[in-house]
Amino acid sequence: MSRDSDNECRRLLEMTRSELARERDRADQLQSLIDHDSETGLLRHHILVRRLNRLIHEKRARFAFGIIRLDRNYQRIRHSRDRLKVLLYVTAERIKRVLGPGNLYQSDRSDEFLFFLPDISGEDEIDAAVTDIMDTVREFHNPPASDISFGCNIGVAIFPDHAESVKELEENAEIALGVHEEVRWGGFLYSPEIGATYHENNTLESVLRNGILDGFSGFHVAYQPLVDVNGAILGCEALMRWDAPGHGSISPTRFIPLAEQSGPIVYLGKWILYQVLGQVKIWREQLSETLFASLNMSLVQLEQPDCVEMITVAMNSHKLPGDALQLEVTESALMENPEAVRKNLQAFQKMGIRIMLDDFGTGYSSLAMLNTLPVNTLKIAKEIIDDFPGDPRSVEIVRAIMSISESFGFTTLAEGIEKEEQYRSLVQEGCHILQGFLFSIPLSAKEFQALFRATH
Ligand code: C2E
Ligand code: MG
Ligand code: MG
Repeated sequence: MSRDSDNECRRLLEMTRSELARERDRADQLQSLIDHDSETGLLRHHILVRRLNRLIHEKRARFAFGIIRLDRNYQRIRHSRDRLKVLLYVTAERIKRVLGPGNLYQSDRSDEFLFFLPDISGEDEIDAAVTDIMDTVREFHNPPASDISFGCNIGVAIFPDHAESVKELEENAEIALGVHEEVRWGGFLYSPEIGATYHENNTLESVLRNGILDGFSGFHVAYQPLVDVNGAILGCEALMRWDAPGHGSISPTRFIPLAEQSGPIVYLGKWILYQVLGQVKIWREQLSETLFASLNMSLVQLEQPDCVEMITVAMNSHKLPGDALQLEVTESALMENPEAVRKNLQAFQKMGIRIMLDDFGTGYSSLAMLNTLPVNTLKIAKEIIDDFPGDPRSVEIVRAIMSISESFGFTTLAEGIEKEEQYRSLVQEGCHILQGFLFSIPLSAKEFQALFRATH
């Protein structure tokens, strides 16, 4: 072979080699694009599935699989895409730091991450990791660090304790997330009981829908007296009751969250509003013309675009003035969607409807912000009253609430009063309105009427 053709051959070989290398790079790049999420840079779901399948196949490891879903508030910042990208990226980075490299993955949903905790021995390890994740997300995304506040919900299942396959593991972590979110037990781990609750909830939900479709059969209202410092009835809190066919009486702490999650709360809310206004109309004519009813409002209801119109129409059709109604909202509702909710509450106040902050003192609202909120009354949570006045801390909290309330010109109400001593001390501290089993349990309309007559 001549020297020239030898060189030519080498050149061609070299070209082919670099062509091949480029091709390989391109393939690697493509694979990397497929394997990584473009926004967070995290490895994607299918890579985790592959890893978990391998581990399950080896059958040696005990590991935990978890889902981290950013909460409702996160969905509300969808309007700004760039901002969202940055938020997601930083959130992922922070969680990655907590979990260690290689253990956080991107789910197929953009508001969701998946994680993996290898070689776990006890549930304490999972508990610690979950607490760290929740704290990290909450700390970072709550004022003053950011103007948007959101947290996350987490569901975890363990192999081999809770599942035999990746599919089952994913399903059970999802069930754990859903149930814990719904019932607000503050947990995150799957268990057979959680699985049973999930299936029960599904059943209850359809019974609830059927009850609504069947003219709200099984639902009724209980009225718990709200009294002044002398024990005289001023009004009542209307509380929903449900006798579910085949399931007995279900607590509102159980069925209200179910109804909130799947939508029927809007119908139930409208139904109870008309029941209560009809009753107050009669009582104002027969018992006292200043009597009022206090109604609990879920965030879901307050976010309905026609929320103000619906209540205005109801008030007008009963020819009732605004002061016949009070609305109870929780701190979290006010904090979770401040703008939409605030506008609606202001509209209610303009109509003369008073707004009460329910379960006050258990949430995370900043006291300094209180005077900017459209609120008339603070309702001190039962959890605080339970320890009052025995526990000095509860006394301190009650005094702090009273003093803030006074400086902002709010009315204060204490709920869950069961003992004479709580009553006396609360009056001494300057509380205006009282509610609790000491005065009366929630009553039927007939019983309420009888009690009113007997005490006036
Ligand atoms: P809430 O608004 O904080 O209602 C007060 C709860 O405390 C009621 O429970 C009442 O029966 C109970 N309670 C009052 N005084 C005492 C007491 O002295 N001792 C004890 N142990 N309990 C007392 P209930 O009726 O089970 O309602 C639970 C929650 O369900 C309510 O808490 C409210 O958040 C929700 N809820 C009830 N009815 C409705 C409704 O019509 N709409 C909405 N959105 N939520 C409702
Ligand atoms: Mg209430
Ligand atoms: Mg309450």
